[in-house]
Amino acid sequence: MAKKISVVIPLYNEEAVIEQTYERMTHVMEQLAMDYELLFVNDGSKDKTLSLVQAFSFADPHVKCLHFSRNFGHQIAITAGTDYASGDAVIIIDADLQDPPELIPEMIQKWQEGYDVVYAQRMKRNGETFFKKWSAKIFYRTLHKLTDVEIPVDTGDFRLMDKKVYTELKKLNEKNPFVRGLVSWLGFKQTALLYEREERAAGETKYPLKKMLKLSIDGITSFSYQPLKLASYAGAALSGAGFVYMLIVLFQTLFTDTTVNGWSSMIIIQLLFSGFVLVILGMIGEYIGRIYDEVKDRPLYIVAESYGFDPKRANSETLHYPTFMEQKAN
Ligand code: UDP
Ligand code: MG
Repeated sequence: MAKKISVVIPLYNEEAVIEQTYERMTHVMEQLAMDYELLFVNDGSKDKTLSLVQAFSFADPHVKCLHFSRNFGHQIAITAGTDYASGDAVIIIDADLQDPPELIPEMIQKWQEGYDVVYAQRMKRNGETFFKKWSAKIFYRTLHKLTDVEIPVDTGDFRLMDKKVYTELKKLNEKNPFVRGLVSWLGFKQTALLYEREERAAGETKYPLKKMLKLSIDGITSFSYQPLKLASYAGAALSGAGFVYMLIVLFQTLFTDTTVNGWSSMIIIQLLFSGFVLVILGMIGEYIGRIYDEVKDRPLYIVAESYGFDPKRANSETLHYPTFMEQKAN
């Protein structure tokens, strides 16, 4: 039986690019002698994205669509995509054609050679701001230093995963998932495919600074305890320095007539140190907030509508996918 590939495409306000994306992906997938599904996850778009994808799904049985009740975020959208995928392998790809779909046949070839994960690693990023390239570069290298998990640098979520890998991924069920890290953590036979990241085909980035920060803090807190240890290291160093200074002051008071005049130095030390303590508290807060998310155990996302799924073939008994006919009847 022909193998099936699920392509997961997260969408947030992508009306400008979605038609082009659908056409280019379909073109690539049609060339393969394989069955496929294009699984669009509409992450609460406020523009015409949903109606466009709906139209594709009515016309093309390869298209499936999950529509979230609101914007849950890119990482959650791709997690939902893998939850609902039914292929022998799943490919995660951005909707804006920055990850060229033409790389998919090569990924599949590596998969057929026996690799379980084929991740696309960026050699070069075109058409992105200096700030984006620089911050991404620093982030991947910092994360690499901070963690023992081998998370490859300059690698986003554009990757292929064998069914056995994405089945394990589903079980992790983290509330603030950093998917690329989780896939590295899972292990299996992984390999890189080098590529040049293209410019966005149309539309604007959906990753403002706030979302970029959230993603990087998720990455670091999920894969490293180092920031928590910083308080003890810095604390030890500072008490050491304090002790030495105390000896100096004692010496001055007892054996010399230097008057210690200290208002400005006191203020500076006060500000520096209280700032430092607050930063450390904030770091601890990041971890506590994430523990809180885990404990509340809310569902990761809410699917408001879905299109193109076959209820008889649902992956999970608890989920019901309305068929096209049912959708029309409602
Ligand atoms: N995206 C999403 N939810 C969000 C933000 C982004 O599903 O809250 C999707 C977006 O539609 C795109 C992918 O995630 O398919 C990557 O986003 P984008 O291209 O804007 O990020 P950038 O390439 O600028 O980092
Ligand atoms: Mg992009």
